[in-house]
Order: sequence, then structure tokens, then C-alpha cells
Amino acid sequence: MGAPGGGKGTISKKILKDFKFNHISTGDILRKHVQDKTELGLIANSYMVKGALVPDTVVIDMLRLIHKNKKNDESLLLDGFPRTIEQAKQLSTIFPIDCLISLDIPHQTIIDRLSNRWIHAPSGRIYSYDYNPPKIHNKDDITGEPLSQRDDDKPETISKRLVSYEQMTKPLIEYYRNHSKNTHVEVFQGTESDVIYPNVKNYLLKHFKTK
Ligand code: AMP
Repeated sequence: MGAPGGGKGTISKKILKDFKFNHISTGDILRKHVQDKTELGLIANSYMVKGALVPDTVVIDMLRLIHKNKKNDESLLLDGFPRTIEQAKQLSTIFPIDCLISLDIPHQTIIDRLSNRWIHAPSGRIYSYDYNPPKIHNKDDITGEPLSQRDDDKPETISKRLVSYEQMTKPLIEYYRNHSKNTHVEVFQGTESDVIYPNVKNYLLKHFKTK
């Protein structure tokens, strides 16, 4: 877990290179529904564009479906779930959680980073005008199609998402410390994923039984 723009997706990708997990990002799943204009996508989008969390019932139902299709020997890397105490309570009835990795990134770093993040919506390719700019301004490197900004990355929405993170999601760290004795909880601080990741990797090697 971590604030929006705190590098959850980037750290997840790095973890997937070193460990065998099935990556489940509720944000990615919801964005796909929005793009495909499914019924769930239309409901989710009305919350996402405002920078609000999608209702617990919607995401919990999604997780139940994932659980139904999960292979027995498979480990999941949950990226962006749970995000509320209610989701955590429901999750505990579905999966045991071995490790909780929390990324603690200064808000100003996040605000600067998200305002500079542009995407090629059809493919999900992400560019940053800071460290990974497109070859041609505002055009996707592969297709040449125009880039766009995620509605929820627009400056006015970012601050709402950060407030929602502080109020709804951050308390989960204490919740897991106090209520889930079998979950190892670790908070990683920093501003750059490349610097944070080696610590995350060491932590996982120590606490997660890799196959
Ligand atoms: P993310 O890409 O993880 O930052 O998620 C993007 C948006 O999807 C969030 O700002 C929420 O509106 C929604 N979302 C993703 N995961 C959840 C979740 N577990 N609970 C509620 N809303 C979620």
C-alpha cells in the first residue's frame, strides 16, 4: 500500500521480476472496466474522476471473483487493495495476508510526480516528463498517438486522493499491526523507487517463503 503516485505500480513491477506472484492491481482492473465502458466501469468512473474511492462492495466483489479463479499454489501480490478497514476485514475472510509493504513517500514528491505523469490510454504505457519523457512531445513512442493525463492525476484531484489516503487507507498500518498477528508489516520511506526497492526485496526474501 501507499499513497497514490507513491510508486506502488513501479515497486510491484520490480517485485514481479524477482518473485513469482500473480499481480492484482484493483486500479488497473477498474481502469480496464472504465475503458471498456462496462456497467462496473461506469459506476467506478463516477468515483475515480473525483479522486474518491470506489465503494467497498464493488471492489470486494471483484476480489471474490479473483479468489474464485485463483489457482491453489499461486501467491498474489495485491497492489492497491485493501484501501479501507472494511476491505481489510472482508479480505481476511478470503485470503491470509503474509506481508504488508507500505510505501511512505513525501506528499510534495507525489504531487510533483503525478502532475508530470502522462499515459497512452489504449496500451497503459506511462511517461513522465521528469525521468521517462516521450521521444516526441505528447506522443506515444510506439504508435505516435496523443498522450493524455489520467483524470485523477489532474492537480485538483491529486490533493483529494491524498486526503482520502490519509483518512481511509493509512490507518490500515495500525489495523494490521494490532489485529493481524500473522501479517508482517513494514513501512519503507524514501523518494525514489530504485533506492527503496533493494530494501523491499531484502524484506521479502526474509519474510516471504518464495517458491
Ligand atoms: P490506483 O491506480 O491504485 O491509484 O487506483 C486508481 C483509483 O481506482 C483510486 O483512486 C480509486 O478511485 C480506485 N480504486 C483502486 N483500488 C481501490 C480500492 N481497493 N478501493 C476503492 N477504490 C479503489
